[in-house]
Amino acid sequence: MASSSEKPETITGGCLCGSIRYIATFPPDHDFTDSSTTCQCEQCRKNTGSLIFHSHKLPKSAVEFTSKSTLKLYSATPHFERGFCSNCGGLLFWQRDHGEDICLTVGCFDRPVLEKYGPLLTSAKRHLFCEREIPGVTDHLQGDKYPGDCD
Ligand SMILES: [Zn+2]
Ligand SMILES: [Zn+2]
Repeated sequence: MASSSEKPETITGGCLCGSIRYIATFPPDHDFTDSSTTCQCEQCRKNTGSLIFHSHKLPKSAVEFTSKSTLKLYSATPHFERGFCSNCGGLLFWQRDHGEDICLTVGCFDRPVLEKYGPLLTSAKRHLFCEREIPGVTDHLQGDKYPGDCD
């Protein structure tokens, strides 16, 4: 077990079939809690098939895709892109098309990463689109709940 003060410098992740792989390098001043969010908007729910979607934000420049031949982008809303594998369907990230940041899907981080740093990488302070939470199913989250997006 990692101590709670231990932070990763780099992490690896990828899609279910392994066709898309990346290495993410955290900036020295990376705020892990501030970068971690959950979202319960209808788009994230339907896109992931999960009741609560966990993502972790990094600068786009901090993520290097070491293989991505099957990467496709889908826009449910103009100017927002969801990156997924066209072979296995795995969702890797969402981002603003001209934004500086990329929000990686925490579930695509490799298992050793989650085992060692999971609490840190999922220490979500911001819970987005809580107006869409399902009573008795997804309304148990602790932290700052926002009815919609937080910015
Ligand atoms: Zn894949
Ligand atoms: Zn969402």
